[in-house]
Amino acid sequence: MTFNVLTAEFLHETNTFSVRKTGIPAFEAGRFCVGNDGLIGLEGTNTGVAGCLECAQAYGWHMTHAVSAIAGPSGLVTREAFDTVTDLILGAARDNPPDGILLPLHGAMVTEDSHDGEGELLRRIRALLGPDVPIAITLDLHANVTAQMCELSNIIVSYKTYPHIDMREAARQAGDILQRAMTGEITPITLRAHRPMLVEANGGRTDIGPMIERFERARAYEQEPHVYAVSINAGFESSDISELGPTVLVTCDGDPTAHQAFAEHMMDDIWAKRDEVLNTFYSVDDVAAMATEFTANGAPLIIADYADNPGGGAYGDAPALLKAMLDRGVKDACFGPMVDPEAAAKLHEHAEGETVTLDIGGKTDPRFGGSPLSVTGVIKCLSDGECVGDGPMKGGQTMHFGPTAVLHVDGIDVLVTTEASQMYDQQQFRAFGIDPSAKSVVALKSMQHFRAAFEPMAEKVVVCDSGALCTTNYAAMPYENVPRPIHPLDPDVTF
Ligand SMILES: [Zn+2]
Repeated sequence: MTFNVLTAEFLHETNTFSVRKTGIPAFEAGRFCVGNDGLIGLEGTNTGVAGCLECAQAYGWHMTHAVSAIAGPSGLVTREAFDTVTDLILGAARDNPPDGILLPLHGAMVTEDSHDGEGELLRRIRALLGPDVPIAITLDLHANVTAQMCELSNIIVSYKTYPHIDMREAARQAGDILQRAMTGEITPITLRAHRPMLVEANGGRTDIGPMIERFERARAYEQEPHVYAVSINAGFESSDISELGPTVLVTCDGDPTAHQAFAEHMMDDIWAKRDEVLNTFYSVDDVAAMATEFTANGAPLIIADYADNPGGGAYGDAPALLKAMLDRGVKDACFGPMVDPEAAAKLHEHAEGETVTLDIGGKTDPRFGGSPLSVTGVIKCLSDGECVGDGPMKGGQTMHFGPTAVLHVDGIDVLVTTEASQMYDQQQFRAFGIDPSAKSVVALKSMQHFRAAFEPMAEKVVVCDSGALCTTNYAAMPYENVPRPIHPLDPDVTF
């Protein structure tokens, strides 16, 4: 039997502390393609839609793709953007009633009207199609999975890796379960366990620490009868909402008692190890001092600014780390990105080789990561900011920084960009004439994703907290909506 399957991608990780709302232009700057245009060039890539396409081919689905809408992490999604994307999905469902739905989502979307963007999307789909059409969704490891998301979808599969390198695999797994649900072989629901925690489960890290064993247990439990997927979501702490934090999900059917107990048992372990922090967060001055003393034996020191990670919704314009490096006289280094559209435009008024003095960074909200920095440098490269990745996460995918310049300031190549993106892939330096492997020091903005492409070439990796918008100093952030008491804002909270 040929099933009609509706697919759509709608991904946003909302940092509610960001002053930058996420409207349609933000999706257009990311990826906003209506209908099958959303599939072009993505077959075989590490994306959710590639996993959907794989399933369609394997099971002979008649697949209707409503839309791909993906914006970089930033502030609240506007009502207009949310309604526009949602209406495209509902319209496609109305035009061609599906036997099943497969949606690659993120799971940490907050809109102007709802703390639970994905839950609201699912509510509208259910209002149109009723309770019986099986719905499968995939979520990012950094999802804040709400009770509503679990009630309104049947199947949830989250990424199992951070750096995320299994987007296609997650969609494939969700699609495989969806196929069995559509044939009537199984009737899955998703159970959820949760604790009063704000912070990501062990920094979300799947490369070291307790998450490794948790995922092994999850994989083993998926072999039990009536269990189809076990997801461990680290959570996303920069959303000031009523339901946030780590969750364990079991997609299953039959008697839920044992499966709920398993999820609770896994959450007990996350709760017990809630204070196990797997990064040492240095100050910008500490890492700048390390950089001056570092001798590169053919491989660089990598300094990651965790707090100014555009991948967590930070602005990417915090100058604190660059300032510390310049103050300490760090040489033979690169730094990127410095997201500053105004500075990028000013540099584009000049030619390569010219010396320019200007203010960079610190313009969006200098309370987080410092005020604009006055620098003088030589323009080494001017570019439209496009590059094609070749690393484990972004291989074959085009990335955009918008108008971009490399400004060489006192021994440091500073990548000044228009659009915000964290560093995932060496091509984000290489395409603009910077060879990171040839530098002594590589300073970049990313929490963890950089490790996929940069860690293999590093002599050493250190992580700093510049005090930017994704700082781990949670007490400094103006949380208002999270339920209290909660760990770690209320140190004595018990469960
Ligand atoms: Zn993530």
